[in-house]
Amino acid sequence: MNCSSTKNTSLIDSIFLPDSIRISFSAVGDLMVHSSQLEANFDKITKKFDFHQSFQFVEPIFQTTEINFGNLETTLPNDVKLVSGYPEFGSPNEYAYAIKDSHFNILSTANNHSVDKGSLGIENTIRTLKSLEISQIGTYLNQDDYNSRRDFFINTHGYKIFIYNYTYGTNGLLVPEPNIVRHIDEIVIQEDLKRAKELGADCIIVSYHYGGEYLREPDKEQIRWVNFAIDNGADIILGGHPHVLQKFELKEYSDRYGESKERLILYSMGNFLSGQRYPYTDGGAIFQWNLKMEKNRSTIQRTKNTIENLHYIPTWVYPNLKGKGNKYAILPVSKYFDKSLKEKDKSIQPMELDTQSKSAMKFFMKSTIELLGDSLLDL
Ligand SMILES: [Zn+2]
Repeated sequence: MNCSSTKNTSLIDSIFLPDSIRISFSAVGDLMVHSSQLEANFDKITKKFDFHQSFQFVEPIFQTTEINFGNLETTLPNDVKLVSGYPEFGSPNEYAYAIKDSHFNILSTANNHSVDKGSLGIENTIRTLKSLEISQIGTYLNQDDYNSRRDFFINTHGYKIFIYNYTYGTNGLLVPEPNIVRHIDEIVIQEDLKRAKELGADCIIVSYHYGGEYLREPDKEQIRWVNFAIDNGADIILGGHPHVLQKFELKEYSDRYGESKERLILYSMGNFLSGQRYPYTDGGAIFQWNLKMEKNRSTIQRTKNTIENLHYIPTWVYPNLKGKGNKYAILPVSKYFDKSLKEKDKSIQPMELDTQSKSAMKFFMKSTIELLGDSLLDL
């Protein structure tokens, strides 16, 4: 599998193209760093940050999938003086090290916090992720960088999956020149997706940062932009920003090219990691699926895509601000409760929880099952 963003498609690709291919995905929502996390993950003795403990119980889940996607909703200004939580996020590079070690290989960075630390934040985020060999989409150093990376795609045995990332805005902050943040815009989206098709896209993924915060149902704007992307040929929508989970759909839709096919819409994947503690914001889900792509050689290279084995793994963030040891650990809820919310045996629970945390996790699990159903719940 190669990740690239070149304009040229290779002739060799089409000669040796296998009849079909499968690629596995994990996708999560917003990866945030609030002040409470900065405090919890800073060692006062060594004076160093370390975020690995937040991911340790979910890291194995990402080992099994080839594409691991999340939305990095902070900046990495690479300057300790600019490290801060809400409202203008700047995080130490150690956050990205932990994300890398948890096997994430694609991060979206166009979101309402992209500009929080100005040019330094935008540019050093791009440079740090590049140095870690994490593919980063949605923000660019300048026009040259944009021109060379605007059509990001994964090339797997000649099949191409294009991914685009757009944000509704940047909290009223102007994007500093010459940096570029990809914004939600009809003309831009339409041209991008058209170009992807011309470049031989077999699958198009759109990652949106959009919608109203804390709304558990997609709002009119979300529905409008999802429909717009699908009409222009998007196959999969990955949504973020509401900070709570919203419904998902796997449904047949036809687009302006006359193609009627099944599309996967994850309206909002919730918070994967944050310091937010309000009901519904204290967790999220890992969505997993296999994308099967098939070329029908008898017709003109039209790819048939099938989403297989779609399921979700609910996750809940455990905050232990006072105690030692695990602070802000993302926990797979399935290790604690079964579908009927009965507690599982303590021996399989990654760590022991206090009564208050257990009931908050149970409430999260209950509301998540009510929202997403239990048929695709992975326990
Ligand atoms: Zn946001």
